[in-house]
Amino acid sequence: MKLYNSLSHEKEEFVPYTPGKVKMYTCGPTVYHFAHIGNLRTYIMEDVLEKYLRYSGYDVKRVMNITDVGHLTSDADTGEDKMLKGARREHKTVMEIAQFYTDAFFADCAKLHIRTPDVVEPATHCIPEFITMVQGLLDRGYAYVADGNVYFDTSKLDKYYVFHNFEAEDLEVGVREGVEADERKRNKTDFVLWFTKSKFEDQELKWESPWGLGYPGWHIECSAISIKHLGEYLDLHCGGIDNAFPHHTNEIAQSEAYLGHPWCKYWFHVLHLNTATGKMSKSSGEFLTVSLLEEKGYDPLVYRFFCLGSHYRKALVFSWEALDNAAAAYRKLVSRIAALDPAATGENAETAAALRAQFDEALGNDLNTSLGVTVLYDVLKAPLSDARKLALIGEFDGVLSLGLLDAAEREREAASAAPAADDALTAKIEEMIAQRAAAKKAKDYARADAIRAELSAMGVTLKDTPAGTEYTIG
Ligand code: AMP
Ligand code: ZN
Repeated sequence: MKLYNSLSHEKEEFVPYTPGKVKMYTCGPTVYHFAHIGNLRTYIMEDVLEKYLRYSGYDVKRVMNITDVGHLTSDADTGEDKMLKGARREHKTVMEIAQFYTDAFFADCAKLHIRTPDVVEPATHCIPEFITMVQGLLDRGYAYVADGNVYFDTSKLDKYYVFHNFEAEDLEVGVREGVEADERKRNKTDFVLWFTKSKFEDQELKWESPWGLGYPGWHIECSAISIKHLGEYLDLHCGGIDNAFPHHTNEIAQSEAYLGHPWCKYWFHVLHLNTATGKMSKSSGEFLTVSLLEEKGYDPLVYRFFCLGSHYRKALVFSWEALDNAAAAYRKLVSRIAALDPAATGENAETAAALRAQFDEALGNDLNTSLGVTVLYDVLKAPLSDARKLALIGEFDGVLSLGLLDAAEREREAASAAPAADDALTAKIEEMIAQRAAAKKAKDYARADAIRAELSAMGVTLKDTPAGTEYTIG
């Protein structure tokens, strides 16, 4: 496969250290709040990458951390721990909110068909590994202790800015946004490996260390967790583009200084999801979640379909209108699949092979998911038996994970159940749905709820979608 590598700024042939095996690391969520759908865009695209590598025959081991300590509100090491802020907001302990939002994250992932990585490791479970790595960096002369904190010394490196060639003024980036500088640092770009001192003295979780009672910096977590589970040589590291600097830059600095050799071969960065008013972030701006999409009647897989329609290296602008378009296209695609007859068999191996090659060409060319989706339409149009089309769609959807066969099956079942229902009953249900819509329009929500309850007593379940109200019986 060809994959764009942020390190070389080029599309490269993907060649892992060990033939046939891929060691893949993903920066996991900071669990102080729900994931927003921007975060989830990154996890969706990483999921397709992982599944495509598996589809291509690689034995993939994927590791993800859960950031439950050390991720500060500023990149300049002077902020407050985001977890502590979240705990205070909710009057709970850090560990309580960590558990709650970790569970919420995986529940969202399940709804979006994002596979859980082989290893999921909370940072707070790896304190001894962090201490070993920080000690190793001190022993090798890459770190120093200043007033209780341990810092990585970036002046010891030949090249610190591995992803970009920053200009002198960009060196200020480490202290951007008018954030005050940490006077203990020898160089502006140095970063904290282990904190015992911060102006926020009420840090809830602290551990004994050779440098005093304290807690790890965010960057050391990913390096140490990756090395713990994937060893000294990593093939692929993923994250959103905002992680490239300083987080991934610092990960590379400390991992290579510690190991004494190059560490990760390929860096995969997903561009942001933005709203019309700007970037989506957990701390500010519009906060769109999977639950909100569901409340508004969208199937979460429609959001996945929306994401696959764009390339991961382009910023994507979210709007309800764009999501409505995706919902309509998704429904149409499912209907076309539902119309296929699984009993219609017959072979045309050549056409199937050509379609497989097309799918490979799309995904294998820097994960072109929108072209991959287009191949599904080509399958539907191809001179193949319906059974073969269904098999191919199932195969490709093993990578895209749009739940197409299940959705088509549900549609088929609903269609075959419908004629069995007595016509008078159907007319009554539709009449009641129309009355409910009118009540809602007139803002008479009590009446609308009463009609819904009456239908429910008749065994009719309603689902509001952007295209109108759907119902199921029984
Ligand atoms: P966090 O939970 O803040 O540590 O972020 C989890 C992941 O989401 C990281 O890989 C971030 O780079 C990524 N991310 C953050 N904001 C966005 C966004 N607006 N669009 C896409 N990915 C994002
Ligand atoms: Zn990370």
